[in-house]
Amino acid sequence: MNPTVETVAGQLADIGRHCYERGWALGTSGNFSAVVRQKPLTLAITTSGVDKGLLESHHIVAIDEHGQVLQGSGTPSAEATLHLAIVRSRSAGAVLHTHSVWSTILSEATPDGSLTIEGYEMLKGLDGVGTHEHRERLPIVENTQNWTAAAPLIETILREHPEAHGFLIRGHGLYTWGKDLAEAKRQIEILEFLFEVMGRKRGMAWQQ
Ligand SMILES: [Zn+2]
Repeated sequence: MNPTVETVAGQLADIGRHCYERGWALGTSGNFSAVVRQKPLTLAITTSGVDKGLLESHHIVAIDEHGQVLQGSGTPSAEATLHLAIVRSRSAGAVLHTHSVWSTILSEATPDGSLTIEGYEMLKGLDGVGTHEHRERLPIVENTQNWTAAAPLIETILREHPEAHGFLIRGHGLYTWGKDLAEAKRQIEILEFLFEVMGRKRGMAWQQ
């Protein structure tokens, strides 16, 4: 049986406030979504302009596959087309997007279009990863203010990197996803941990 929009909205609000408390989605930054129903697609997503520290279930609307609001009031996040693209390409049940300090710094750390993370035990927290020897390569895409126009490019990048557990937007933040909200939350925690480790290590190297 499908959950109700209200139930999923309550779970998204909890995760949004958690991300705010961790400093990953300060002010109105970041946005979060979860699939309520696959056919026809109904996606619960945060509305724009809401302080994530004060996020409540009534700040979340249900949209269809075209981004049209089906239930609730408010304007869906400006990045809703990205969430829909990820749900389509990855069959994701939930998509989480943060604007953390470390994801912002690391999104600018390499000029070659991707960030590679390898050798850390915490990589095993990512879906399907069983060893610290895993090599995680996160694509880095350029930032834009027009995600509707950029959505096809994101779908292409996701197709070209089928093994990636997320991607970074340069100077902006992280997108990750999971088969459900619990898995997406785990992945955001693992990736944010790894970003902080890499960022702090790099910081020490700069000081030498
Ligand atoms: Zn954003």
